[in-house]
Amino acid sequence: MIPSIFLNKEELINQELKNDLYYDRIKNINLSDITSIAWNRGTNEAKKYKNQDINALLKKEGLNFEINNVHYTPGYMIFSQIIVNEKKITIYMKNIEKEFIPSIPEKYSFWKAGDRLINLFLCHEYYHYLEYYYIGLTSNIEKVNVKFGFINVKKQLNSLNEIAAHAFVKEFYDIW
Ligand SMILES: [Zn+2]
Repeated sequence: MIPSIFLNKEELINQELKNDLYYDRIKNINLSDITSIAWNRGTNEAKKYKNQDINALLKKEGLNFEINNVHYTPGYMIFSQIIVNEKKITIYMKNIEKEFIPSIPEKYSFWKAGDRLINLFLCHEYYHYLEYYYIGLTSNIEKVNVKFGFINVKKQLNSLNEIAAHAFVKEFYDIW
């Protein structure tokens, strides 16, 4: 599977929706408006920060990161995560080496290099940090009616946060 960050807008949105916990319940709903809002939110936010060094941005916020070279979790492909209240990002290097790097399309092999690659994940998590501390979660903007049998329940779609984060990184690093 090609990492979302290297897909175009439409493919990226589709891939992220498919990864959503509620995908089976939302797949027949037209979500193009709300996913576009999420996308634009990410790119617009990135325009405020792009051309800055991501490491300097993290430092300014007191965010730390560690590279975890131990955990390999096949079946649960997590590449990075942030614990927002601890201001701590973890990069799961084993998963990245085994799954992410080999799936980078030829056109984007520039991003295989160590520091650059890590910056992609730092940038992604930095967006989640901005959401949490400054701008609010994208998934909060509009809840979606999810059907459970005959009942409609309004749910936040986590995939919207991911779409916005990927759009943020694409704009930040001009990955087009
Ligand atoms: Zn994310």
